[in-house]
Amino acid sequence: MALYIYKFGGTSVGTVERIQAVAEKVKAARDRGDQIVVVVSAMSGETNRLLDLATQIQEQPDSRELDVLLSTGEQVTIALLCMALHHLGCPACSYTGGQVRILTDDAHTKARIRSIDAQSMREDLAQGKVVVVAGFQGVNEKGWITTLGRGGSDTTAVALAAALQADECQIYTDVDGVYTTDPRIEPRARRLKQITFEEMLEMASLGSKVLQIRAVEFAGKYNVPLRVLSSFTEGEGTLINYEESKMEQALISGIAFNRDEAKLTITGVPDLPGVASKILGPIAEANIEVDMIIQNIAGDDTTDFTFTVHRNDLQRALSILRTVREQLGAGKVTGDDDIVKISIVGVGMRSHAGIASAMFKTLADEGINIRMISTSEIKISVVVDEKYLELAVRALHAAFHLDQELPA
Ligand code: ASP
Ligand code: MG
Repeated sequence: MALYIYKFGGTSVGTVERIQAVAEKVKAARDRGDQIVVVVSAMSGETNRLLDLATQIQEQPDSRELDVLLSTGEQVTIALLCMALHHLGCPACSYTGGQVRILTDDAHTKARIRSIDAQSMREDLAQGKVVVVAGFQGVNEKGWITTLGRGGSDTTAVALAAALQADECQIYTDVDGVYTTDPRIEPRARRLKQITFEEMLEMASLGSKVLQIRAVEFAGKYNVPLRVLSSFTEGEGTLINYEESKMEQALISGIAFNRDEAKLTITGVPDLPGVASKILGPIAEANIEVDMIIQNIAGDDTTDFTFTVHRNDLQRALSILRTVREQLGAGKVTGDDDIVKISIVGVGMRSHAGIASAMFKTLADEGINIRMISTSEIKISVVVDEKYLELAVRALHAAFHLDQELPA
């Protein structure tokens, strides 16, 4: 007998028929003898609908009240799913986040889970019941409703899996797994059978939006095997796990890209101690997150300084940089948002030299100019002109043989 957490996202419970289909699936698992805890999102579009109602009244509603409002979406789904299960003759009991004591901090709309009391869930499971829990929500010490940030049901599921020491946490969604890259860019992209937590974090934060990043972090920290799979088609999905059990030993597991960045450059900055902090200090104070940073020494005791920010922050960052330019007596300030960051990700590159040069050669062969480079232990990122996105992703996908299944 195994204990599974199943999580169904908004599209998987978007209509009554789909909720009934979920109930069938859950019942079948229980009939096989497994213990099942189901975590559900609000029906698709519901959280946005509620948000829209709120902002019609007030542009920035009070975050405590927003949580009271948004948490209702999931409460609808848990009740309907339990009814669908009962209709099939499957015993089931629903709980809001607060009722299973998902205790969080006070950070309304982006709360973090502190503890979970698994007692009542364990009792229900022992009695053969399916436990259905509302995702995305908890309560603080005072018993006030909190929510965990958009996409937070994934984190609820992983946290419950950790608390109950489940055998696996299965995230059912509208894609059938994690792909080597976005199939809309490269149709030959392949579903990965396995990927490590670390790789998934890099893929997720780089824009492969399959799972809430916090859920992956949580799963890695508590060693919860996490599987992404489709609620509409049969299949084994993608298992996100530790490196030890990783069967595929590819050098590169995937290619991620991010179109949301913009690049800024300030030239002719005096090459003196403290300059980087004079440039990036005011950017940080304005709460603008910086991703890549490059500093180049020119021959004449000045440097050029380039960094990237989110595209939405470009104009603000530019005006800050213009002020800095005057203070430092630097040269020119330029901004460019026609760029894209492309990253190859893989734990395999730890133990293999030459991955970076293979990447650069592939791009060079296609005549693609690299504007920035950054590396970490399991990732190499380049910034190129946005018009090269598809060409670069396809060329890299082919160069690293990502379309080919590795022999087992
Ligand atoms: N319903 C929430 C959202 O739309 C949480 C979730 O679906 O994970 O973000
Ligand atoms: Mg989601």
